Amino acid sequence: MSEPELRITWNMHWRCDYRCSYCFFAGHWEEYSRRFIERSTEEWLACWRRIRERHGRALLTITGGEPFIFPDFLNLISGLSDIHWPINISTNASVPWDGFIAAVDPKKVSVSVSFHPEYHEIGPFLGRLKGLRAAGFSGCNNFVAYPPQLKDLPRLAAAFQGIGESLKVIPFIGRFEGRTFPEGYTAEQRKLLGMSDDWVDNKRRKGRACLAGCRSALLLPDGSVTRCGQVGDPGIFGNICDPDFSLLPGPAPCDVELCPCDEWKVMPDEKAPDRAGAWLP
Ligand code: SF4
Repeated sequence: MSEPELRITWNMHWRCDYRCSYCFFAGHWEEYSRRFIERSTEEWLACWRRIRERHGRALLTITGGEPFIFPDFLNLISGLSDIHWPINISTNASVPWDGFIAAVDPKKVSVSVSFHPEYHEIGPFLGRLKGLRAAGFSGCNNFVAYPPQLKDLPRLAAAFQGIGESLKVIPFIGRFEGRTFPEGYTAEQRKLLGMSDDWVDNKRRKGRACLAGCRSALLLPDGSVTRCGQVGDPGIFGNICDPDFSLLPGPAPCDVELCPCDEWKVMPDEKAPDRAGAWLP
């Protein structure tokens, strides 16, 4: 089977059943969750079919909020994976996944889970994770390097290693105790996270030509489409539900300071150490 021709990240909705302190949306859930237009599964699938016909098959990254609480989620993913694949879904693991395992093809869909210490106990979490991986669903195991959680990192990494899994440690982006992160990590913390001293400088892409919007894009909960997460609303160039919607015709200069998630890489190498932090062990 050929490689996908483009990559689209879908922020399905900004609703979540957790309220983690370090979340990008913390303090804004009420406001952001209203930016959601409910459409039936058939309407969504029709939009995605148009993308396939017009631009080709997409690698989809599905995130939120929490995707597993999206209306009719199982039927949507099942139908969507007939149109676009591979699909990677990021979840907080709050919803039982027995029905998902039965309904979805692990050859087309992977599941990345996030371990949230404010909600999860490591033992039961790893037990559920083993079941998911045994059913054939690959994916990352994410952990946010929120400064108060760093002291537990060696213990958690060892626990994941104990079931043959790696932990992907993602730098915290935000403010904590008067400091801005990821710039605010100490040298020792940066070393623990696999961040080189020039990590921030390596994320500067302002003014450089970028394919975001042309061969990759970010779909927001109301159907609007922007170049990428860093550019956000100012980069919106259409709505996926508009029958005339199409991606941008070519690359355009980046106009934000940092590209911390390397979204400019149309087909990212998931294991690249510079993408989002370190892999432990
Ligand atoms: S932030 Fe990254 S993905 Fe977005 S336009 Fe700039 S270089 Fe491209």
